[in-house]
Amino acid sequence: MKKFLYLAIILFASSFSSFAQKVNEPTNGNPQWKENYAPFRIAGNLYYVGTYDLASYLICTEAGHILINTGLASSAKQIKRNVQQLGFKFKDIKILLTTQAHYDHMGAMAAIKKQTGAQFFVTAGDKETAASGGKADYEMGKYGVTFKPIHAEKILNNFDSISLGETHLQVINHPGHTQGSCSYLFTVKDSSRSYKVLIANMPSIVTDRRFQDIKEYTTVSNDYANSLASLKSLEFDIWVASHASQFGLHKKRKPGDAYNPSVFFDQKGYMESLEELKKDYEEKLKKDAAN
Ligand SMILES: [Zn+2]
Repeated sequence: MKKFLYLAIILFASSFSSFAQKVNEPTNGNPQWKENYAPFRIAGNLYYVGTYDLASYLICTEAGHILINTGLASSAKQIKRNVQQLGFKFKDIKILLTTQAHYDHMGAMAAIKKQTGAQFFVTAGDKETAASGGKADYEMGKYGVTFKPIHAEKILNNFDSISLGETHLQVINHPGHTQGSCSYLFTVKDSSRSYKVLIANMPSIVTDRRFQDIKEYTTVSNDYANSLASLKSLEFDIWVASHASQFGLHKKRKPGDAYNPSVFFDQKGYMESLEELKKDYEEKLKKDAAN
C-alpha cells in the first residue's frame, strides 16, 4: 500500500512537471533551419553534423566525442543520422556544449543528453537560461519555455579549458546575444598539418527594447562592445559560427565537395562580418539615444 502510494505520487509529480514544462518553440519562418544537410569533415577531427543552417559541430577523439549545438527539437534525428553517416557512434558523444542558450541551438540538447548519457557543460551566464528552457533569457523569455530545460553537470568560466582525449577547447565568453554566449578555440590536425579553429558566436542584436531599459541584464550594452572587441582580436586559421549563413558555408562549399579545410580560411570575411555587426551595434546605440 505504502509502495503503491509512493508510485502514485511519482506518477502525479512527473505528469505535473511535464505539463509545467510544455515547450513552445517559436515558429521561425526559416525553412532552412529544418532542411537536411549531408554531414562533412571540416578539418582534422572536426565535422559538421547540423541542418542546412543550424550548425552543429562534432569533435571526435579517442576518448569519445564533443557535440556543440543541437538545433531545434526536430534536429535530434537529423544530427543522430549525420553522426552515424560519418561512421561514428551517437552513444560515443560524451560532452554537450552550446554557443548560446537560444532554442535554435538548444532544441534537441535535453533529448540528445538522454539518448547518449553525455554531460552538458554551460557557461555561468547561460546556466539559468538552460535550466529554465529559455524562460530566464532577457529577450526570448517572453515566449516562455522554448526548449526542454536542461541542467548542467559543469559550469564554464571565461578561458576555461575543456579536454577530451587529445582535444582541448578554450571557452571564450562573448556575452550580449545571450548573457552566456561563448566561442570555442581549439586545434585540430590532419595528416598534412594542424589548424587553429574558431567556432564563433557572432553577437547579433536580438532586442527591440532600448539597452538601458533591460533591467534584467544591465551590462548588455558593454557586453556587446567587449565581445566585438574580443572577437576582433582572436587569431585562427579556420572560422565557423552558430549559423551556416553567418560564415557563408554554402558559398564556400557545395554538397559532395571533397575534403578541403582551406575553403574555411577566411580572415577577410570574418573581419567584414564583425564590421557589419559593429555597425548594427552602433546604430542601435544611436537609435536608443534618440528614443
Ligand atoms: Zn540566438
